[in-house]
Amino acid sequence: MQGEPRQDNLPWIILVSLVLGAMAGIACNWGREAIDSAVAHVAGGPVAAVDWIVSNIARPLGQIFLNLLLMTVVPLVFASLASGVAQLGDWRRLGRVGLVTMALFVFSMALACATGLALVNWYQPGLAMPSEVGQQLLAEAKNPAPPARGLTVDTLVGIVPRNPFQAAVQMEMLQIIFFALMVGIALTFLTEVRRQTLLRLLEGVTEVMVVIIHLVMRIAPLAVFALIFAQTASFGWRYLETLGGYVLLALGGMAFHLVVSLGFLVWLLGGLAPWRFFPRIWTVMITAFSTSSSNATLPTTLRTAQQELGVPSQIAGFVIPLGATMNMNGTALYEGITALFLAQVYFGVTPDWTAQITVLVLAVLTAIGAAGVPGGSLPLLAMVLTSIGVPGEYIGIILGVDRLLDMARTVLNVGGDLVVAVCVARQERAWEASSASATTGSKDVSSHPA
Ligand code: ASP
Repeated sequence: MQGEPRQDNLPWIILVSLVLGAMAGIACNWGREAIDSAVAHVAGGPVAAVDWIVSNIARPLGQIFLNLLLMTVVPLVFASLASGVAQLGDWRRLGRVGLVTMALFVFSMALACATGLALVNWYQPGLAMPSEVGQQLLAEAKNPAPPARGLTVDTLVGIVPRNPFQAAVQMEMLQIIFFALMVGIALTFLTEVRRQTLLRLLEGVTEVMVVIIHLVMRIAPLAVFALIFAQTASFGWRYLETLGGYVLLALGGMAFHLVVSLGFLVWLLGGLAPWRFFPRIWTVMITAFSTSSSNATLPTTLRTAQQELGVPSQIAGFVIPLGATMNMNGTALYEGITALFLAQVYFGVTPDWTAQITVLVLAVLTAIGAAGVPGGSLPLLAMVLTSIGVPGEYIGIILGVDRLLDMARTVLNVGGDLVVAVCVARQERAWEASSASATTGSKDVSSHPA
């Protein structure tokens, strides 16, 4: 792409802002009373200074940044997916790539959720929590639990949009994906001249969105500082005393799945050593951590897949937008751990294996349907809870610490997408190399990203 702004040291600057923002937020949280009374002294009356800064400066700044990233998502998903599908060309190739992609999505999410369930069975954090503490946390929950959404036939019917523009307006990502897939497939039926014209248009739209993201990322250091500051300054640290076991277990499970399971997968199926893979994706991880949104991270993920990992544009354009909406390893793991933890709190025992299998299946299905925005999985988690007999409002118990876990699970969500993109790219090349003659000149993904 011509004239694309270069930002080589940006990830480092973002990381420094992240750390400084977290430190400033934690300091303000702990010193809140002293700061408020000092400001009150000057202002001549009581003031909630820290809260004022959070709600009038830090949050709006962070929200503007999130919106700037999110505004590119609908055109980007549509254009990159439709052109990716059209460039995959024939039906056989599209079917193979689609199948391998979906199989890897489901496998990695099921593995993530099973890891979470195994950890809760082992450590049993819910049994260690006295029931009156649970009741107290429920009563204190600031935000009411989101209404539980059911998984019915209508959910399936709802994937097919009646009006693609309405889907775009309401950011119904599964509907947008469906329409983009149809457009991409239809493009393969057009004459070469027409197909190329439309493909160039779609690629142009993708490139414009990527340039917008480059420009937006220039304010990332400031915005990331604001986002993290707002979270840490208003975070309920005291909840960590009562929910510490659960939080550590969830974070530990996510770290394990990211480094060990996904690291192994990318090495085994993608031919890329984990120590070469992870350093290349860390801008994506930082963006995911600070925004808590797979969708807002999508443009960065797409760019990283192509530029850092050497995934061909048609594979990246297909796998990454799908993954940002449908492949959520962190969400599946978090839902598994949380559903079982809350069931332990509610029932006083760990539910049997039939309930745990229900949790596993539903966690994977709901992770596919969850929106890639902050807290996107909470309404669906309420549904998983009710399906094993735990009242949906029990989510209130963990809401105080959810943002921290949301940041962590979003890292895992986008990390999983990149792993699948590398694996699919490698499998495709291996497939091409073995089916075509040795003159195709296809490269191995392990040697591709230099
Ligand atoms: N925040 C997550 C994401 O965007 C979704 C979730 O709430 O689990 O990937």
